[in-house]
Amino acid sequence: MRTLQEVIRDAEAKGVAVGHFNIANIATLKAISEATKELNVPVIIGTSEGESKYVDVHRAVAMVRDLRENHGVECFLNADHTHSLDKIKEAVKAGYDAVLFDGGKLTIEENIKQTKEVVDHVKSINSNILVEGELGYIGSSSKILKEIPEGAAINEGDLTEAEEARQFVEETKIDFLAPAVGNIHGMFKGAPNPNLNINRIKQIKESAKVPLVLHGGSGIRDEDFESAIRAGISIIHINTEVRVAWRHGLETSLKGKPDEVSPYKLIEEALDGMTRVVYNRLKLFNRM
Ligand SMILES: [Zn+2]
Repeated sequence: MRTLQEVIRDAEAKGVAVGHFNIANIATLKAISEATKELNVPVIIGTSEGESKYVDVHRAVAMVRDLRENHGVECFLNADHTHSLDKIKEAVKAGYDAVLFDGGKLTIEENIKQTKEVVDHVKSINSNILVEGELGYIGSSSKILKEIPEGAAINEGDLTEAEEARQFVEETKIDFLAPAVGNIHGMFKGAPNPNLNINRIKQIKESAKVPLVLHGGSGIRDEDFESAIRAGISIIHINTEVRVAWRHGLETSLKGKPDEVSPYKLIEEALDGMTRVVYNRLKLFNRM
């Protein structure tokens, strides 16, 4: 079994990206596992603070370990968008493979200070646990958007700068960096998300010299993903698209089977829809 570090290095060498999908229930985990097994590619499973409050960090670790050990899925668990050292400690103690400390809304000085604290703590416990830092604000909810989230960096002047990224990585010693390159969390109904700044991704990759993580992948055009991976993105987060498939499938089942009360039968359509989303995204990210 490879470590997450080895999986990401391999993705970098092959010019592909590893998919990251969030879970808040067993159905989503099952969809990720089925799509992953079919394609035989590695995957990262994430729980945000809200999701892990519901799922429970120990339960998340046990479920991902079960997929690894009993179902042949090469998967890793990430504490997505964690805002405090206490929550990071909780995830590390529970057995997560990676953590994202999200200081994207802080000033760069404060972000460096707090992210460094997180890196020092995590590495003192287990140097194999990987730490991701976030530079630039890209909104915070995986939902259907009516407008660009307030304060999100969309204009070229607000995106993460290459020099800033180099300084941030050098001073904090993070393993991965999540920059703001035109991406935002959430997706618009019936319209694609704003364009990614591919050139900026290239510049950040050259100066930061660590694997880059693209958040807010939902709603991004296929050709933008392809260019982003070529420019240096190694991990891509998808959440809203899976949530939309879950809701849509559930609505269809509830309408079509008004007398059904069995949860595992009512979830079938949602499961199929989510599996399709994950399968198609993984296929694209792995250039298959
Ligand atoms: Zn994110």
